[in-house]
Amino acid sequence: AVMKNVTILGAGYAGLRTLRELQKSKEDFSITLVDRNRYHFESTDLHEVAAGTQPWEKITYEISDVVDPAKTTFIQDDVLKIDPEKQEVVLKDRGVITYDYLVVALGFRSETFGIPGATEYALEMVDIDSARKVHDHILTAMDQYQATQDRKYLNITVCGAGFTGIELVGSLVENKKAFAKRAGVKPEEITIFCVEAAPSILPMFNDELRSYCLNKLKKWDVALMTGKAIKGLKENTVVYADGEEEKELQTGTIIWTTGVSGSEVIGASGFEERRGRVSVHPDLRDPKHENIYLIGDVSAVIDPLTNRPYPTTAQIALKMGAHAGRNLLAQLKNQPTKAFSFQSLGSVASIGNAHAFGLVGKVNVKGYPASFVKKMIMNKSLLETGGVKEVMAKGRFDLYR
Ligand code: NAD
Repeated sequence: AVMKNVTILGAGYAGLRTLRELQKSKEDFSITLVDRNRYHFESTDLHEVAAGTQPWEKITYEISDVVDPAKTTFIQDDVLKIDPEKQEVVLKDRGVITYDYLVVALGFRSETFGIPGATEYALEMVDIDSARKVHDHILTAMDQYQATQDRKYLNITVCGAGFTGIELVGSLVENKKAFAKRAGVKPEEITIFCVEAAPSILPMFNDELRSYCLNKLKKWDVALMTGKAIKGLKENTVVYADGEEEKELQTGTIIWTTGVSGSEVIGASGFEERRGRVSVHPDLRDPKHENIYLIGDVSAVIDPLTNRPYPTTAQIALKMGAHAGRNLLAQLKNQPTKAFSFQSLGSVASIGNAHAFGLVGKVNVKGYPASFVKKMIMNKSLLETGGVKEVMAKGRFDLYR
């Protein structure tokens, strides 16, 4: 028989976790892995690159480090479209490749909700390039302040106070001194704004954790503006609703973190989707194609407790990656696949390098112990995709004060 091919699209948490599972197998099949970058990046740490508190190399590693050349071919290319009927993937440079089984793990993109000006005037933070652009932009704004003495250049605005927005704010605060030095001002002259539509932040946490976070933001002079829906952006301007009124905030830097949707490839390929996510069969396959798995941010699995899809996180992406790998191996051996189940281990958000808060299981953690837990979580996800080598090279070991 001709050797079967499994093609994995995307080398993020989900895709690399599947790769790892498949490469462990002694079965006879070939693997193709496609990603637009030569490297894997830790998307949970992009805010550190955007704020400039970590160099981009710290949160990436070479995909070739985790590819077993005896089993896997890595193709660096952009995925444009999938044709599920012809079992083909269209790549930007290389053209068409074919597969027997497909694992779609193409990740997220920034969701603008069609808000006017968002694409033109805000910076997104979705990959290494865009995160580096944020940092470069902030430095340029500080230079523009020097040149013009226009104080709007000292304002940095984060749009949306979800986990991503809050973590970004934390890292921006941490780097305020460096920005101030560049602008030739005192750190307290730089203001970090965070504009959020909802009346309060972090609805998933209880009062204790919320107050911990709010107190830190207050102590650090973050201008948190809750209950202010962003209506539009103009150059260096955020237009937001304040009750019945529309107001404007002048700011040299605007960063967009109001939420994510799944890769645009999902829509372009004709999958039945909502915001780039496919409601998958319980075993993580496309309901219409039994040789296609959709995992990570392009996948929606209903949480039986809330009757809504689980939120997209690195944690669930890793779990889905492992599960899809095991189901694929079963399928290759003509054995039945299993339903995916998920029990969150909790979630911890960092605010700067030394502070964090969140839930581990059902237990509240905050402050330095939480920061320790957060770093262990980061190391664990590195271990799960990259193995011991990447943990040693890129792990977080500044665990002791
Ligand atoms: P999100 O959807 O969780 O948060 C976006 C925020 O932007 C919301 O608070 C929303 O009310 C606000 N918003 C949306 N439109 C707005 C508007 N027009 N004006 C003002 N505010 C607006 O998105 P996210 O923070 O990018 O997170 C994406 C996913 O990743 C989530 O599931 C999150 O839990 C997860 N995540 C987890 C961690 C962690 O565990 N440490 C870190 C980052 C992200």
